[in-house]
Amino acid sequence: MPHDPSRQTEILRAELKQAVMTAFCDALHQSQLSPLKVMGLTAEALGAVYREVAEAHRLDTDCPCGWHPKVEADIETLRAALERAARPAPMTDLLMVQAAGRA
Ligand SMILES: [Zn+2]
Repeated sequence: MPHDPSRQTEILRAELKQAVMTAFCDALHQSQLSPLKVMGLTAEALGAVYREVAEAHRLDTDCPCGWHPKVEADIETLRAALERAARPAPMTDLLMVQAAGRA
């Protein structure tokens, strides 16, 4: 893992996305559910992971990471991250993709 924190974040983002994409595709193919329904279950799974980790940090105040969950603010942060990542790319990005596609 590189020491450059922004590079490290980029690598983790790509690895986590690939892991979630693999789990999502497996669940979609094993079920008769719509993609949105499977997306919803995926979002619920992430919420459940948050709750478990947050509860562990409320009970175990000696965790060396020093994180103290603030449920309302944390959930708002997660909601904003989901929205930022899920929204269609801004128009300028689309124009650049189209320009690159024609090149
Ligand atoms: Zn911790």
